[in-house]
Amino acid sequence: MSVEPSSTSTAPSAAAFADRHIGARADAVETMLKAVGYDSLDGLVDMAVPAAIRQNFPLVLDPAKSEEETLAALRRIAGRNKTAVQMIGQGYYGTHTPPVILRNVVEDPAWYTAYTPYQPEISQGRLEALLNFQTMVQDLTALPIANASLLDEATAVAEAVLLMRRSNKSKGNAAVVLDSELFPQTIAVVKGRAKALGFDVIVADLGNGLPDGELAGVVLQQPGASGVVRDQSSLIADAKERGALVTVAADLLAMTLITPPGEQGADIAVGSVQRFGVPLFYGGPHAAYMAVRKGLERSLPGRLVGVSKDSAGTPAYRLALQTREQHIRREKATSNICTAQALLAIVASMYAVYHGPAGLTAIARRAHDSARSLATALKTAGVELLHESFFDTVTARVPGRAAGVIAAAEAKGINLRRIDADTVGISADETTTPAVIADVAAVFGAAPAESAEGFDLPAGLLRTSEFMTHPVFSSYRSETQMLRYLRRLSDRDLALDRTMIPLGSCTMKLNATAEMQAMTWPEFASIHPFAPDSQTEGWRELIADLEEKLAVITGYDTVSIQPNAGSQGELAGLLAIRGYHHSRGDVQRNVCLIPASAHGTNAASAVLAGMKVVVVATAADGAIDHADLRAKIDANRGNLAAIMITYPSTHGVFDDDVRDVCEAVHEAGGQVYIDGANLNALVGLAQPGEFGGDVSHLNLHKTFCIPHGGGGPGVGPVAAKAHLAPFMPGDAATWTGGEDIPVSASRFGSAGVLPISWAYVSLMGGEGLTSATKHALLAANYVAARLNEYFPVLYTGKGGLVAHECILDLRELTARTGVTAEDVAKRLVDYGFHAPTLSFPVAGTLMVEPTESEDLGEMDRFIDAMIAIRAEIDQVAAGDFTLEASPLRNAPHTAVVVAANEWDRDYPREQAAFPLRSLRMDKYFPPVGRIDGAAGDRNLVCSCPPIEDFEN
Ligand SMILES: *Cc1c(COP(=O)(O)O)cnc(C)c1O
Repeated sequence: MSVEPSSTSTAPSAAAFADRHIGARADAVETMLKAVGYDSLDGLVDMAVPAAIRQNFPLVLDPAKSEEETLAALRRIAGRNKTAVQMIGQGYYGTHTPPVILRNVVEDPAWYTAYTPYQPEISQGRLEALLNFQTMVQDLTALPIANASLLDEATAVAEAVLLMRRSNKSKGNAAVVLDSELFPQTIAVVKGRAKALGFDVIVADLGNGLPDGELAGVVLQQPGASGVVRDQSSLIADAKERGALVTVAADLLAMTLITPPGEQGADIAVGSVQRFGVPLFYGGPHAAYMAVRKGLERSLPGRLVGVSKDSAGTPAYRLALQTREQHIRREKATSNICTAQALLAIVASMYAVYHGPAGLTAIARRAHDSARSLATALKTAGVELLHESFFDTVTARVPGRAAGVIAAAEAKGINLRRIDADTVGISADETTTPAVIADVAAVFGAAPAESAEGFDLPAGLLRTSEFMTHPVFSSYRSETQMLRYLRRLSDRDLALDRTMIPLGSCTMKLNATAEMQAMTWPEFASIHPFAPDSQTEGWRELIADLEEKLAVITGYDTVSIQPNAGSQGELAGLLAIRGYHHSRGDVQRNVCLIPASAHGTNAASAVLAGMKVVVVATAADGAIDHADLRAKIDANRGNLAAIMITYPSTHGVFDDDVRDVCEAVHEAGGQVYIDGANLNALVGLAQPGEFGGDVSHLNLHKTFCIPHGGGGPGVGPVAAKAHLAPFMPGDAATWTGGEDIPVSASRFGSAGVLPISWAYVSLMGGEGLTSATKHALLAANYVAARLNEYFPVLYTGKGGLVAHECILDLRELTARTGVTAEDVAKRLVDYGFHAPTLSFPVAGTLMVEPTESEDLGEMDRFIDAMIAIRAEIDQVAAGDFTLEASPLRNAPHTAVVVAANEWDRDYPREQAAFPLRSLRMDKYFPPVGRIDGAAGDRNLVCSCPPIEDFEN
């Protein structure tokens, strides 16, 4: 073997990674182009993308790096962060992620590449994990119904405040009271929401009782931000006596030891589950929870997993009720939450499954004992403590010495919380060792305590009720059992590691392993969001660099990656528009125009930003109805705040006249919000900031390769022109009430997953990203061209082309044969596919987005399946079998059904299970048949059912 002298070897070819990311090889591109009727990719792109919006310069970023170079760059950046023992607390704590969960959930594509479980038959594994999450939350809070999940503790409290106001309508616009013991970032986020919606929030020390006056709701925290643990039952009773609803932000680990909110009389409990095995990640992603008392379940925001039955009567899980609330209720939606933090909720639930009730209690006790031992040492040394009753957080008064104490601790590699010049907070957790406690004691001038004395939790507040008694929380104690449980669940599901997920609007593209690797490195994962800037230089370099590149890509002047989902980016962008109008004295500008076809979060976000939604009609060709747009602009001229448009539209088409739409709105004094969820059709070819947008959000969990995680994490950066820069989201921890309203608990939102997008941009470079866009357009047009004669493509633009996705119209077939889009979606499961987007944005259709990452073979496999399904529809039309007895209506077919001794269907078993020869080697059998959603909604069961239910 000869080795080239290194001086002549070049870095791996710049195109190398792009060629891995993009599925189609050169010969496949030829084949696809031919099918669409073009002889060059650029020819197709020039026809598809309107000249009026094309950027006339190449996207220039740093040249593409190889995987090795990118990982080396990430290592250099990570090296600029400093790990430390994190005792700052304030909602973020050290935790051990059990390695079996780290590797087999967080780092396992079977879990992290899964989509949101809207198709329950292929999602039973993650639905079970999420149901475990709900059951764990219900038990620990002692409230009967919990969701799965919310974005972070601060926004969860904001959602709870809105829920209390909605459920307490008789109170009109009465104030909501927040205890001053809430974390500062929580208070800031709630005040920001209240500012947009125009209601009063009072912050008061409720240790002295409730303030006078009408109250709609009260929010307490247990334990308080100062660490204090108080009996809140009489305060809660007082509040309820006065007609207020009560929310408690509760630390679930502490709830293993102290009386939970449900038993104290609270209506709602919310909080973060970060310390259940989810790394600190410099502030996120972490899952939050919300649990409510009976009677409030139908106004619960976020997703709710429920139990129903499948076609054979077997218990089966699916998302219940308000699953797609924003899509159904739109401007009447009560929350804009869509993508939440499913993967992190799954991590937390598995942490609970692995440790069980006794294990969690022992972890809580250890944290409590560490804090008690520190308190004993400090008290012995004469240091004044703020509270004798605490869980994990000791607050010490050191007049004038806080800075010195904190610096001394930092010198020992320990971060403490500076509350003010005289006060220091120290939070213990499951990772705290006696040596650390001794070091902390020493910086206060105290000797370590021999043993912890006193500082017991109040006797009346000790938890006596059982929790997590369901067998799932006591069945997986050994690592072998746990490993197999994780594998068993993920094997029930279809994720991107097994099949194309052709979901329109969701851009399920490759999540490359090299992109994923850095996020769990300790130099990224173990950094506390409030660590001193000197320890986070790497993080801030990576974030600033990513923000700058996203600005270059989108043509905007400023970007904030704070919003931790697309919906939150929408809210941030609309709040920026609101702030801008207010700064100019245009406080009456509150009308937001939204096309009828918009994603449901658009309308919900507009309402949360304090705006009034006016719907603009869609024309027959799928574009905005211009006559209606003009009429709506004229009718609202003086009050027009904004238009929200999605580009290319949710119909999968580049509208030719988007510049005219933007100009008409600008001319009337409105701002233009361009929903950038479809940016995968634009990167390198056109820039929303250039063709008329004032502000956009992007979805890094779509276009920029952050995996969907079964429904989150997400990152929804908000990008804006310079005039909106003063209104970009500020840092909740230091916010002073200005127009820079924060939208997430932590400054950089879901920072932990940003290395993924950063790596993607680094690996692709400007040329690679542009090439990806072109190949995404080609792939969608190939699928459209091949399937059009079987399932007509509903909307097309110039040259009969679509953008990056296409809508297949089944309505005529449905009218003729009764076979629905849902039947086709479920039948695809028998062919081993995840269904496309079902009935959005047009009922009775399927929306397909192949993305650039799928290769021709996989697209053909999908097309073959669709053609075979069309033949089955024709069999229904021809009377070969009735609709009711067809393989379509009876799909998907489980192994149990196919292998049963009895078979009385009008089609053979082989057609049921192996409709194509190619399925023989790699057959996926769904664990359950078609699920009856309506039955589950009528009889709502949202916690783990007893095991016996699954017998027979
Ligand atoms: C996905 C999507 C959103 C919402 O993003 P989330 O991260 O789920 O909140 C908004 N608009 C469009 C067009 C989308 O496709």
